[in-house]
Amino acid sequence: MEIDRKKRNLIYFLKPYLWWYFIGWIFLILSSSAGLMFPYLMGKLLGAGSSSAGASTPSSIELLNFNNATEVAYGLFILFGFQALFSFLRVVIFNNVTENALRDLRNTAFERMVFMPMNFFDVNKVGELTSRVSSDITQIQDTLRTTVAEFFRQVIIILGGVAFLFFISWKLALIMLATVPIMALLAVFFGRFIRKLSKQAQDFAAESNSIIEETLSGISNVKAFTFEYFAIKNYKGKTQEIRNLNVKSGIWRGLFVSFIIFCLFGAIVFIVWQGLILTQGPNPELSSEGFYQFVLFTIMMGASVGSLPDLYANIQKTFGAIENLMVIINDETENDGKEGKLKKGIVGNVSFKNVSFNYPQRPDISVLEKVSLEISKNAQVALVGSSGSGKTTIASLILSFYHVQHGELLIDSERIGDYDLKYLRSQMAYVPQDVLLFSGSIYDNIIFGKPNATDEEVIEAAKKANSWEFISSFPEGIKTEVGDRGIQLSGGQKQRIAIARAILKDPTILILDEATSALDSESEKLVQDALEILMKGRTSIVIAHRLSTVKKADQILVLDKGSIAESGKHKELMDRDGMYARLVNMQQLDSNE
Ligand code: ADP
Ligand code: MG
Repeated sequence: MEIDRKKRNLIYFLKPYLWWYFIGWIFLILSSSAGLMFPYLMGKLLGAGSSSAGASTPSSIELLNFNNATEVAYGLFILFGFQALFSFLRVVIFNNVTENALRDLRNTAFERMVFMPMNFFDVNKVGELTSRVSSDITQIQDTLRTTVAEFFRQVIIILGGVAFLFFISWKLALIMLATVPIMALLAVFFGRFIRKLSKQAQDFAAESNSIIEETLSGISNVKAFTFEYFAIKNYKGKTQEIRNLNVKSGIWRGLFVSFIIFCLFGAIVFIVWQGLILTQGPNPELSSEGFYQFVLFTIMMGASVGSLPDLYANIQKTFGAIENLMVIINDETENDGKEGKLKKGIVGNVSFKNVSFNYPQRPDISVLEKVSLEISKNAQVALVGSSGSGKTTIASLILSFYHVQHGELLIDSERIGDYDLKYLRSQMAYVPQDVLLFSGSIYDNIIFGKPNATDEEVIEAAKKANSWEFISSFPEGIKTEVGDRGIQLSGGQKQRIAIARAILKDPTILILDEATSALDSESEKLVQDALEILMKGRTSIVIAHRLSTVKKADQILVLDKGSIAESGKHKELMDRDGMYARLVNMQQLDSNE
């Protein structure tokens, strides 16, 4: 597992395919070098035969001379043949390497993400994470597949071209080179600037995506509160920013491109002019063949230099995307460094000793304040208190979603952090207030609690959860699809499926977070009966809003602003006439109205 904890970068994902990548690079070098032969041979073809006679007359530049044209033309055909083959292999190999590495990268990114601690999801928005993974990976894909190859092809052409130019005429080469380094420097400078602008635009794009995501996933709330216009206004603000930044970066890119074009054409004209001068005179320094080669090389190099800034900016953008992804991939997950932890049988004693807690992203707000409580195995404990008093937080700590910062949380007198996380959670079941059913059938959603259960066990659990009646009323029974593309279930039905899931899991510790609060009295009765079956013989922690559901509990804990205000049985607490009694009386008043 050591490898898992190393800092990963893109090379890590390319490593398994490095040999193939290397071979791809060889073909890239071969095909680019073959490309360099083109101006050389073409120049020969254009100036063929006149080079030997170069010294004779000033007008030795003849457009076409076929003296050894056939030979040169054959050479060109063979050259194209090789270049075509090399390019084909290069494209296919680069593509295969990219697809393999990206599959691994995608899988790793998702795998790391789902194992991130809860706090990661408090800090990062789901929409941003989703678009980060999809758009950053597309960016990396394009770069690995083509941009890098293209970039280096151009670099090879430029370097090879320079060598050829010096070979043909060092004077002309120097004239040519006087313009290139200046452009190269400008390219770096512009590239950085453009990258900064497009990074900002990307950030706004991610924000705008998360507005869409939030609005659409909460569309019923949006409509009920006529929040549409507000959402639209927010969205328009972001798209305007994206547009402005991209327009701005477009202007800079345009300026850059036109600047380079102007310089290049200027340079080409200048070089043609200077080259012509060199071919003149009784003793010319340049043959006509050399002149054509020079001009062709210069044009080809000019095109290469011109394409560099865009390629460069693209590669820069990819570095940003890689950085973004690697932050996710290298962030510590819940499982990192947790090998060899306790996996011994849990019987279900839970104890908080002076636990104080704040959510990591809100260090200034203390949510739990010196909470001490003892829950012995198989006990049924109710947590009550006004909303925001910290009930769900206590459940989250027992589920080990967050780490306790002060004090100790013990499960069977071992610190909770000493347990193997997967094992620990396999011993617990959690029924939250708003049950999330995954897309799939009802069956899939129940068997989720115990993946190796038999069909009989699944049906048995559904029956115990008082859900069999409505399940069997559907034409497709337990195989009915639910979720986004399936049927819509009522809150009570969903909750009973979640309870069936928990029954099937048969946990040592059961946590119910307001599992009955959203129900009408009819389904509450059904759910309540189901829950009573479920709670038997295990440690049960019930967070309840309706106090009628907690009367039978072995122990009632009353939370107030993150501290335990009272604890005891229903009768004791009623006699005490404190906070609990006040809450009960208030609810009775409500229900008598
Ligand atoms: P209850 O379940 O009793 O209604 P919670 O335990 O959900 O209360 O919340 C207790 C306090 O912690 C509240 O003030 C709430 O705003 C805060 N809180 C809850 N969840 C988070 C979170 N993920 N990040 C930051 N603060 C939170
Ligand atoms: Mg809550």
